[in-house]
Amino acid sequence: MGVDKSDKLNKIIKLLPGYNCRACGYKRCDIFAEELLNGRTSLDKCPFLFREDFKQNMIELKELLKDVEYKEVKSEAEEEEKLVGVIDEYEADFLLDPLPNEHSCRETLMIADKKPLKIGDYIQYRPLGCPIPHFAKIIDENHGLYIVHIEGPCHRITGKEKEYINVGIAMVVAFEGIVIGKVPEVGHTVKFIPNHCMMQKVHSGVVVEVEGNRAYIEGIDLKVW
Ligand code: SF4
Repeated sequence: MGVDKSDKLNKIIKLLPGYNCRACGYKRCDIFAEELLNGRTSLDKCPFLFREDFKQNMIELKELLKDVEYKEVKSEAEEEEKLVGVIDEYEADFLLDPLPNEHSCRETLMIADKKPLKIGDYIQYRPLGCPIPHFAKIIDENHGLYIVHIEGPCHRITGKEKEYINVGIAMVVAFEGIVIGKVPEVGHTVKFIPNHCMMQKVHSGVVVEVEGNRAYIEGIDLKVW
């Protein structure tokens, strides 16, 4: 690599967030930087660069990369012939991974049970249309809807048994996570597999928000055909 190119690479690495979180599809920010310089990926794959605190970095990165010609490279998920659900073998558009530093995609639940619930509570529920009981932690509440991280049933093998409040059937109304594959546009109806889904079942929904490769999908349905 010439001096100019390696100097440019070092500048790009310094301007990237440095979280090494893999959300861009690469193991580390320095690998992502090298691929940016080779025109094999684009800045919009790093979701953090859209944040206010990285606004100036984004401007400088765009300037550094203005002469690089982007060659569209398909991700591994896109290159696979088909992404197919395990149970019913329907084809999905993409996989949905957890947000950086989180262990499951975020699910938004509508819970009919009237038990008092609060952020930090652990709950047991069965999503409408899914035969498997889910175990989750409430991480946020929004106008009566609960946002959760899935804990199991695999939590049982960690040996850390907790008190779960059984709330019966819950409607999963939204998912939030990182798209692994082709990022959809707002308004599109999509079929996807949440990475934590124990049945690897294809879900459908409508994309209502996209930021980089982070997507918020509402109107979740397990009936896909
Ligand atoms: S998504 Fe951004 S912060 Fe995470 S590894 Fe890629 S470049 Fe680094």
